[in-house]
Amino acid sequence: MQCNRLLKLTKSWYLNVVDETMAPARMVAFMEQHIASCDICQNDPDLQKELAKITEIVLPESKIPKAVRMQQAQDDEEEADDIENDENENGDIEDEEDEDDEI
Ligand SMILES: [Zn+2]
Repeated sequence: MQCNRLLKLTKSWYLNVVDETMAPARMVAFMEQHIASCDICQNDPDLQKELAKITEIVLPESKIPKAVRMQQAQDDEEEADDIENDENENGDIEDEEDEDDEI
């Protein structure tokens, strides 16, 4: 990789992917966008190979069949809903104490 700017960007994007604040596919799309608009990157003969390697590292799901990936995404959404519903169970007790002051 000859372009220092892409190197820096790739590192910071990769940290976001590790933190799960950025989708791996988005990181790859950002890299492709930079390469398409950067003279240094366009003249780097090894960059396409390196991009392919990085894509393999951040996008392991691309080896999983698409149907399985969609099923996993649905499972994640259902789990998130369950957590939200559990939080409401203990909220009713405190309201009764305030009513005594008004009498
Ligand atoms: Zn560049």
